[in-house]
Amino acid sequence: MDRPVVTRIAPSPTGMMHIGTARTALFNWLYARGRDGRFLLRIEDTDVARSTPEATQAILDGLTWLGLDWDGEAVSQAGQAARHAEVAQAMLNAGRAYRCFSTQDEIEAFREAARAEGRSTLFQSPWRDVPTDDHPDAPSVIRLKAPRDGATVIADAVQGDVTIRNDHLDDMVLLRSDGTPTYMLAVVVDDHDMDITHVIRGDDHLNNAARQIQIYDAMGWDEPVWAHIPLIHGADGKKLSKRHGATGVTEFAEMGFPAAAMRNYLARLGWSHGDDEFFTDAEARDWFDLGGIGKAPARLDLKKLENLSGQHIAAMEPEAVAVATEDWLARTGGVPIDGDALRRAVPVAQAGARTLPQLLEKAHFALVARPIRIEEKAAKALDTVSRGILSELTPHLQTASWTRDALEGVVGDVAQAHGLGLGKIAAPLRAALAGRTATPSVFDMMLVLGRDETLARLADVVESDPS
Ligand code: GLU
Repeated sequence: MDRPVVTRIAPSPTGMMHIGTARTALFNWLYARGRDGRFLLRIEDTDVARSTPEATQAILDGLTWLGLDWDGEAVSQAGQAARHAEVAQAMLNAGRAYRCFSTQDEIEAFREAARAEGRSTLFQSPWRDVPTDDHPDAPSVIRLKAPRDGATVIADAVQGDVTIRNDHLDDMVLLRSDGTPTYMLAVVVDDHDMDITHVIRGDDHLNNAARQIQIYDAMGWDEPVWAHIPLIHGADGKKLSKRHGATGVTEFAEMGFPAAAMRNYLARLGWSHGDDEFFTDAEARDWFDLGGIGKAPARLDLKKLENLSGQHIAAMEPEAVAVATEDWLARTGGVPIDGDALRRAVPVAQAGARTLPQLLEKAHFALVARPIRIEEKAAKALDTVSRGILSELTPHLQTASWTRDALEGVVGDVAQAHGLGLGKIAAPLRAALAGRTATPSVFDMMLVLGRDETLARLADVVESDPS
């Protein structure tokens, strides 16, 4: 019987959360969630010198913002050190590992000699076959007794079979002389103990897989399914780095992309389902599989992300847009806004906004309180004649029913009476209602603002001293 799917994201907490880590997390999450499986989080904090609590927090925040919920508590790898040592001991007892007493100097001398003789510089410990009784009372590491002949094959769901000759792999250290586990041992023990069935991760770990397979073999444990995904590159095809601009998850959150759009975009970064570009979480969960992961590195394309983001903002429930916008404001330290006014404006501001700050710009007219500030450029539309027309419009608006059709009729009639096109009357109206030149349509704004507020804003302008 197939085991239930269990995937994981295992980031090292040594800095900001990289967009590549977010994508790996998303792939693992989609794979598990689409198969009634579990998605686990393990913080690989064994490197005490480089791991920081801030970086762990950044991972938790990044995953939470992206909406990638993990099952159970996050596991701290450092917390499992005793178990790692126990497994190293088990391999020792089973004769699959050995104590090595070679000092750093001796290892260096071995390499020097090998180099001079043109042999492989991979260290071959003289202690590999020395019986325990002949061991000195000295510090030692535990090394894996790795096979010297043959090859290790990584049956990779993305890369195909990758074969590594065993004489290219040395007897790796499992436990250091101070009793701490190496990364290679810790990953295997944790993945085994957490019942991980699928290891989906960046292909910078492909070579590690060969070594990890040797540990699985030594313990007689089942290997997980391996899927090593090509790394993300920048638009120029080079490995993604700071040079390319934003590389941290938080930076994308701060740019104001909704998490749903980010999930959609990241899913497409290295994985495809036919020609589908825009899709929902439910579709992604249904469709995601390892066969759809490409072998070539995907390129980060901000324009594409903006485009998808616009489609998501337009398609999202207005309440979800409002919540995402408020979260964005809180995250970026923006001034608090009137949530009710935002909610009234979202339906007319959704279309055409590619980011949440762009949406806020469109909703600006609803968020400002009277008397609104009229920007210089907009004020140009409020000459004496135009204000006269607005004044004339006022009584009609007082009695019109507050529907789009009726408002269009009233404004159209007044424009016609002056022999003006609708545009000519829309400009002063826009200036009076929003104080700006770029806004949603005047009818959208009137409908959102309501009759009283609309008339009050017109009166503010009509009654003001033009000088
Ligand atoms: N801790 C590793 C990293 O952050 C990931 C290890 C793994 O996924 O096996 O790159």
